[in-house]
Amino acid sequence: MTELDAEQKGMAHAIAVRLWQSRWLLAAGVLAVLIAFAFASVSAYVLVLALFLLLAAAMLPAGGLRQSAEDASAIEAIGLQRLSGEYLAAAVADPLIIFDHAATIVHANAAAFAAFGGIAPGISLPLKFRAPEMQALLDSVLSGTVASDVVDYTEKLPVERAYRVSASSVGHGTDLYVLVFKDQSEARRIDRMRADFIANASHELRTPLASIAGFIETLRGPARNDPAAREQFLQIMQNQTGRMARLIDDLLSLSRLEMKPYLKPGTEVDLRQTVDSVIDSLAPLARENGLVIERDFAKGPLDVPGDRDELFQVFENLLENACKYGQSGGRVLVTIAHADDVSEPGIEVTIRDFGPGIPEEHIPRITERFYRVDVETSRTQKGTGLGLSIVKHILTRHNARLSIKSEVGKGAAFSVYLPAH
Ligand code: ADP
Repeated sequence: MTELDAEQKGMAHAIAVRLWQSRWLLAAGVLAVLIAFAFASVSAYVLVLALFLLLAAAMLPAGGLRQSAEDASAIEAIGLQRLSGEYLAAAVADPLIIFDHAATIVHANAAAFAAFGGIAPGISLPLKFRAPEMQALLDSVLSGTVASDVVDYTEKLPVERAYRVSASSVGHGTDLYVLVFKDQSEARRIDRMRADFIANASHELRTPLASIAGFIETLRGPARNDPAAREQFLQIMQNQTGRMARLIDDLLSLSRLEMKPYLKPGTEVDLRQTVDSVIDSLAPLARENGLVIERDFAKGPLDVPGDRDELFQVFENLLENACKYGQSGGRVLVTIAHADDVSEPGIEVTIRDFGPGIPEEHIPRITERFYRVDVETSRTQKGTGLGLSIVKHILTRHNARLSIKSEVGKGAAFSVYLPAH
């Protein structure tokens, strides 16, 4: 059948479908004309009009449903059979290559061009993809032993990307084959992050555990009859169990946040009251570290939508860090201000210390799990390395932003911008 024949047949089919859909309306029209002829008076015209409207209303809902199914079949008749493989390939978001029995590229979609430079019709696939797994994949579909096959393939340059590649025969006497590349890089990255996280968490727990085990041995052996050493070792063991407990608390906090990724909508948080109670709860630590906490809060209501306990945890972590790491500055300034200059109105809470600050190169990584500028300082300050990643998690759930500004020797400022609506 020629293309023209197919088109004419498709058009005829579509017209037939349209006529069939309108059959009741046509019948009502004919009836109306007959009645109007028989009783040509004003009341007869009104009767005809009412009858016509009633019929049309009764037909509408069922007709609408039927129409979409029939329209789809008409589109299939006219469109899909004539749709070129090129259009279909272009509509696929993953890289897709069509090749022939000699493994020569016949067509590649835009995603394939973007992902792998240097491909064009006429190029040999085995020369372009020289990895043994790709050669094996091509061999297996071209030999005809299987209709389709899948392999994992890693493209090294310009950046490493991992793909799951499927090859299948198009069949229907076309002698054509299709390669589709599914990008797995993001899934692999998440897997690696999870493995790193477990390794880091185990290491963090193992260190205090090993220390406790060592002291138990010493207490049962050489220090058995030394009351002074016993007191000192028990104190160290208590500190280590405290460290493990803090780590487990932070790990549980993170996993709880991950398990409920969306915030319950509808609750308002009074930032003035929340930040005030954070400052009160950390007053003993500030006193211990010789710090004064100063407040500069804007006037009027300072409410934002959010979860009070979670926002309390955010400001508690930030203020605790300022008291621990910014100790040498002697003071910490907490400000709450309306941030109306940005596109969306909101409120900005800034916690600024005047301590040693954070070198610029560390700032982009500081919210990563277990990332510390200086591991020893963090440990002596009872840090777990998880505080800022918990902060980041909570802020993401609140559609909020964290910005960190610091100048070495002058201190650090952590600003939380919370949208007002
Ligand atoms: P930690 O439990 O170690 O405090 P965080 O995630 O809260 O973990 O912080 C990560 C690291 O960021 C800290 O170990 C510290 O090195 C650095 N840091 C955080 N806040 C400050 C600050 N105000 N001044 C200097 N360094 C800071």
